[in-house]
Amino acid sequence: MTLLAASIFVERLTDLSATCDAAWRDGADAIELRIDPLEDSPIALNAFLKLHGEKKWIVTCRGREEGGRFAGETAERVACLITAAQGTNAYIDFEFADWKRSANIRQKVLLAATGADGRRRLVLSSHHFNGPPNDLNSLIRKIRDVGRASLAANDELVAKVAYAGQSIMDGFAALDAMHAHRDQAIAICMGEHGTWTRLLAKKLGAFATYVATEDEVATAPGQFSLQAARDFRWGALNPRTRVYGVVGDPVGHSLSPMLFNHWFGISEIDALYMPLHVGANEMNAFLDAVHQRTWLDPGGFSVTIPHKESALNWPKIEADPLCVRLGALNTLLFDKDRVHAFNTDSHAAFDSLLDAWSKQREDLRGSSIDVLGAGGAARAMILPLQEFGASVTVYGRSPKRLQCIRNEFTGTVADWNDRVHRTGNVLINTTPIGMWPNTEESPMPGHSLKGCELVFDMVYRPAETRLLRDAARAGCKPVNGLDMFVRQAAIQMELWTGIRPDRVEAFARLSDFLSREESPRCRSDRLRTQATAANQRKSHLFLIGMRGSGKTTVGKLLAGLLKVPHIDTDALITAAAGLSIREIFAAEGEIGFRKQESNVVRQVISQGPAVISLGGGAILDATNVDAIRNSGTVVWLTAPIEVLAQRIHDCPNTFDSRPRMTNLPELEELRTLLVDREEIYRAASHVVFPTENRTAGEVAQAIHLWILDATLHPRSL
Ligand code: NAP
Repeated sequence: MTLLAASIFVERLTDLSATCDAAWRDGADAIELRIDPLEDSPIALNAFLKLHGEKKWIVTCRGREEGGRFAGETAERVACLITAAQGTNAYIDFEFADWKRSANIRQKVLLAATGADGRRRLVLSSHHFNGPPNDLNSLIRKIRDVGRASLAANDELVAKVAYAGQSIMDGFAALDAMHAHRDQAIAICMGEHGTWTRLLAKKLGAFATYVATEDEVATAPGQFSLQAARDFRWGALNPRTRVYGVVGDPVGHSLSPMLFNHWFGISEIDALYMPLHVGANEMNAFLDAVHQRTWLDPGGFSVTIPHKESALNWPKIEADPLCVRLGALNTLLFDKDRVHAFNTDSHAAFDSLLDAWSKQREDLRGSSIDVLGAGGAARAMILPLQEFGASVTVYGRSPKRLQCIRNEFTGTVADWNDRVHRTGNVLINTTPIGMWPNTEESPMPGHSLKGCELVFDMVYRPAETRLLRDAARAGCKPVNGLDMFVRQAAIQMELWTGIRPDRVEAFARLSDFLSREESPRCRSDRLRTQATAANQRKSHLFLIGMRGSGKTTVGKLLAGLLKVPHIDTDALITAAAGLSIREIFAAEGEIGFRKQESNVVRQVISQGPAVISLGGGAILDATNVDAIRNSGTVVWLTAPIEVLAQRIHDCPNTFDSRPRMTNLPELEELRTLLVDREEIYRAASHVVFPTENRTAGEVAQAIHLWILDATLHPRSL
């Protein structure tokens, strides 16, 4: 049986008993005690382990060279292990590199590993932080052969190799090793790309998988928690369990694992469903790798962004006629050697829209529908809409994708920037803009929603996106993607298992989850507490955007919330020169001003963490952009031109002291500047916050929450 081993870092022994009790209660089969940070004497630990001799323990004192915290010499580390574990029935985890060094070390480690029953229990481990070792299987064999040479027949030996995984493809080495060596080995692909392989350890019969006691306290990257083990039905996993999952990039937001593991559980289906983070260029290699490993018992995958169209090119796929017509799939079904593709989005999207709009198919004739985005989900929606006579306009940013849609479907396509001129009865967002964690983004300015009857956002997490909030304000009916999500998943479930799940119960369950997750008060409290505990990143927060976007006002409020100083680079420049910006422009021209601005940017970056509001044109200098992106988080504040112009007029200081950049009227000048700068702002920023229809306080609060969230769930910024 594969042990579910909860890893616990032990600094003091006082709370150990309570922490271990909680882990046993939460379902751990074994506990790994990481004693490398131990500040107390290990003597008391030895007594504790003897008292709980009926339990399974692994005692590890990891040296710094292999990623641990023990700073002393190897001899001290071994002495610590002897004092802590000798005469208990704990496994000793010891580094293979040190094991090979001398007979003396081996003899002492064996002493530490000798239990009350005289047997030795040993885990010999090896850590690789630059990716998988060249030949993992051979390394495990070697560890076992070398280790065995010093052990008696009834001693226990486990070879453990942990390596850093950079992509999902790195996980296959761990799977192959666990498949080959079963309970004689532990192979760990560390990092978020290896989490799925840690779950599959049970199916493959590995010796153990290591888990965190709670969500936020993993002792190694990629570890899942005891709670997650329950959610993934760890107790039910076995060698025959079929493997399912959602394949995409990103997949962290997906509720599919929660839904399908629940359905599998209540239907008593022997299956596991996992999130599988497969990058844009990895899909074919991933599917090949799964297909080759029949012992993985793949059952099927949900396919999401960005693979719905490209996955159709995988040579082994047998696509059903709807997929072929749509040019997009969202479901794969593995049936022995054959892999079937389906699209369950199309029916789900169409039925969900009709229900929400209280329309029959026949009512669509003559209606006009705007679709944002031109990917797989858009295609799934366009086809039935057009079949039933709706006139569809698709707005996309990729001319190639638009061209394909124009060729394959009837209807109109338009450039992304033209979406603000939409006139349809219904607007459908099929882009991921606004999806968790970028919940403050919206694909559409609020003022462009006026006159629309219904706005359907296919995003379902958060349940209420910024687009839908704006839609409600503009008097349109807001509809999120949750009903569609449950519908398409229910069809997948039926395709995979023949079971038709209860959609109403699923919808209620997920709605409840999302409403609890999104309750702003509870979310803000939780994030605040956790972020204080987690190591907050001590870096700057930069606000960029056009004049009038609120950089200074929001910056001051945000600085108060984050308890750091606020710096306004324009204010520093004008104070140093004793002139307004308009006067500096007049005296030195824009080039002179930009030079001073770059100097100030460099200067403020070198100081302690702060909220820094930058002048509207600071991002025109590429070295400024590099510097700010490398030293903090860059937030772009946006607003429609008319709103910017109004705000500038309402603030005489801003209006009078700013230089005119062109001879055009104010509004035209703003429009021209924005056209010139929009792409630069986008490329310079890590996140976008629209400010229209919100007070500066609301914007500051929203950014603050986002920062707390990002601290706890770091993304690659
Ligand atoms: P996809 O095939 O990758 O298509 C995404 C589309 O959005 C592409 O046209 C892409 O444009 C566009 N896009 C992405 N970011 C954009 C941006 N910043 N500005 C303008 N356009 C942008 O993905 P998909 O599978 O269709 O999924 C799209 C969204 O729908 C996802 O959020 C997904 O979760 C959601 N969805 C929900 C359900 C549900 O059941 N509720 C089902 C399916 C999909 P480019 O081509 O230029 O990249």
